[in-house]
Amino acid sequence: MQHSVSLVFVTQSVDRAEAASRKTKIRVIMGKWKHVSALCLASVFLSNSTYSSFADSEVNQLSTCQLKKTSTWPLAPGFPRSNTLVESTGTLRHLFIYVDFPDNKSTLASKKFADQYFLESKKFIEAQSYGKLKFVSDVSTKVFRINKNSSVYGLIADGKGDGMQLIQDAITAADPETDFSKYDFVTVFPPITTKTIKTAGTIGGALDAYKSTEKNFSTGIAIGQWYMTDLSSPGRGWSMFSHEVGHVLGLTHPYFQKNGGPGAIWDLMGNGGTSVREFIGWHRFLLSWLADKEVVCLSGQKIKPTSIRLSPISSRKVENKFAMIQLDETKAIGIEVRRKNLYDNLNKNEEGTLVYLIDTTKGDDEGIITILGTKKTLKDGQLLGSLKPGEGIAYKGVTVKVLASNKSGDSIEISRS
Ligand SMILES: [Zn+2]
Repeated sequence: MQHSVSLVFVTQSVDRAEAASRKTKIRVIMGKWKHVSALCLASVFLSNSTYSSFADSEVNQLSTCQLKKTSTWPLAPGFPRSNTLVESTGTLRHLFIYVDFPDNKSTLASKKFADQYFLESKKFIEAQSYGKLKFVSDVSTKVFRINKNSSVYGLIADGKGDGMQLIQDAITAADPETDFSKYDFVTVFPPITTKTIKTAGTIGGALDAYKSTEKNFSTGIAIGQWYMTDLSSPGRGWSMFSHEVGHVLGLTHPYFQKNGGPGAIWDLMGNGGTSVREFIGWHRFLLSWLADKEVVCLSGQKIKPTSIRLSPISSRKVENKFAMIQLDETKAIGIEVRRKNLYDNLNKNEEGTLVYLIDTTKGDDEGIITILGTKKTLKDGQLLGSLKPGEGIAYKGVTVKVLASNKSGDSIEISRS
């Protein structure tokens, strides 16, 4: 089945964040396509008498903090979320498709192999969403033959080749024996012995870019030979797959990353090989994974001294865990608290409050997120910058200071400089 000829690839971008850690060079080709909520009051955390409550400091209309999308690229940050993307809440339904070729035959359609990508990814994605997104997957029970030479896709180097055609060919090969109405996206495995399909990544096209008899898809994943071994290493196996699922959900690489080198520390979307994997609060806000009463939204123009208490961003309790101070319609300061947990490998000194600029005028690898502050602490050679009690940052007339900290969260003062 042919995919839409109206689709135009505007860019092919190498996934630099992963490429950086070398072991993890995952290519993502994401076609820019044409096309491409809602809210309420956040809860009022009550301050002690020294500080104003939110009522005084204004806002808490979460719409104020729904920074505008400034590009039609579906993975561009901001609101509203592109309607070509899969739903970010509810159930995300996925299928692994094994394929082979006349020049590279295989009989391996192994659930056990696919589970090395899926099972931990399911736990991770469901944890990041606080259970708002359930992730389920099937595995094709046979290997589907694509009657082409496996080298036609040219997937032998980052940024090269036609992964989109591979994914469409896999769907077409499986279509007679597969009910695609049961799925939201697919991942294609060539034979593990492939010598011609090396790279991996998420490949998005226009709405209905991939066609099957029952249903069309806009996004798919292909995993090549470079990513089919050494599956327990960082940036491989489940962490690589989870990063790609982040792309399927509409997240892109949030940090400035133009010149190689290791990717940023915070967030698996910033660096597929990071040891600090929890998605940042901004990503969870974008995906509607935070309940209204878990988000504090303030206007930078109207701030009076305000104190808030934030639980760690990973907390499953329904309480404040992400704060935004809106600076203008495309920029805000984000504040969240990070603690060591299953996914964040932080020591005591590295835990703390993270304060960052969110800028929706930026795109992939251009610095949608920038860690703020003058504290130049490093982890794995990259900026850490988490704040301890007594420390703070000042940015564009807004001061954020950590007052106190314990296991269950940090108390933070926000005021005008
Ligand atoms: Zn990526």
